Amino acid sequence: MANIIDGLSIARAIESEATSGAHQLRAAGLAPHLVTIQVGPAAATDVYIQNQKRRFAEMGIQFTHLDLDAGVDEETVANHVQDLNDNPKVTGIMIALPLPAAINPNRIQERILPAKDVEGVSPSNLGNLILNRGTIGPCTAIAVLEAIHSTRVPTEGAHAVMVGHSHIVGMPVTLCLLRDLATTTTCHIATRDLAAETSRADILIVAVGKPGLIAGDMVKPGAVVIDVGINRVKDPTRGTGSTRLVGDVVFPEVSKVAGWITPVPGGIGPVTVAVLARNVVYCARGLLEQQQAGDR
Ligand code: NAD
Repeated sequence: MANIIDGLSIARAIESEATSGAHQLRAAGLAPHLVTIQVGPAAATDVYIQNQKRRFAEMGIQFTHLDLDAGVDEETVANHVQDLNDNPKVTGIMIALPLPAAINPNRIQERILPAKDVEGVSPSNLGNLILNRGTIGPCTAIAVLEAIHSTRVPTEGAHAVMVGHSHIVGMPVTLCLLRDLATTTTCHIATRDLAAETSRADILIVAVGKPGLIAGDMVKPGAVVIDVGINRVKDPTRGTGSTRLVGDVVFPEVSKVAGWITPVPGGIGPVTVAVLARNVVYCARGLLEQQQAGDR
C-alpha cells in the first residue's frame, strides 16, 4: 500500500508559518487584510466563505467578502479592484470565480496590482515564480509542489508527468518541476496515449476534473501520485441522492501500486487554502517593505 500524503498536516505547518508571519506584520504596523470580490449570488460558496473567514481570523488575517450584485458590469468590478489597489489597508485581492458570462475574468484579474495578487496568477508573478525570483505563485500549483516535497522523493532527474495544462495548475507545476531539474511531460485533452505517458512517471500529477481517469494499470509501481481533481459523484452506498467527493485517480487501485498518494478529500484541497493564507502574508510583507523603502 502507498504512503498517504497527509494534506491536513502539510496545511497545518504552512498555516503556522502564515500565523507567525501575520503576527510579525501586525507588530510592524501592517495587518494582513484579504478582500475577495464575488459577483452574483454567494449561496453555493457561502459555507466555504464562512469557513475561510474563520480560519483566516484564527491566523490573524482579516478577510472581507465584497459581494456585488449579479447585474454589475465589467467597469464597475474593475473600479472596485482599482479602489482596493489604492487602499493601503488592503494587502491582498482575490476574485471569486466564476464571474457572470458578461465579465471577462482575465481582464479583471489583470487589474489587480501584482503586489496584491494573492492568487499568484498575474503574468509578472507567474514569470517570477518560474525564474525563481518570486515567492507568490498560484495556490494549487504551490500546494502540489509542497505535497511532492513532503515525500522527500527527489525531483531532480525524476520523470514528472503532469496531466492537465491549465494556467493555474498544470502549466506552472510543469515549469516549476522543470526549473527543479525534473524531466517533464505535460498531457492534456489532445494527448494520444495517456496511459503510455502516465505509466512512465516517477511523479504523476493529475488535474483534469474527470473521476476515474487514472486507473491502477496506468501508474508506475512506487510512483508519487498527486491527485488535484475534485469531483462530486453519486454515492449509492450512503442512500439515494447521496454524493461524495473523489479525485481523478481511482484511489483503491492506484494506492496499491503507487509509493505515495494524496487522498481526496484531505489532500491538495487544504494545502491550497493554507498556501493562499501564506500568499496573503507574503504580499503584505512585500507591501510593508515597499513602504519602508519609500520612507527612507
Ligand atoms: P481545467 O478545467 O482548466 O482544465 C482541465 C485540463 O484537463 C485541461 O488541460 C484539459 O486539456 C485536460 N483534460 C481534459 N480531459 C482530458 C483527458 N481525457 N485526458 C487528459 N487531459 C484531459 O483545469 P483546472 O482548473 O486545473 O482543474 C482541474 C481539476 O482540479 C478540477 O477537478 C478542479 O476542480 C480541480 N482543482 C482543485 C483544486 C484544489 O484546491 N484541490 C484547485 C483547482 C482546481
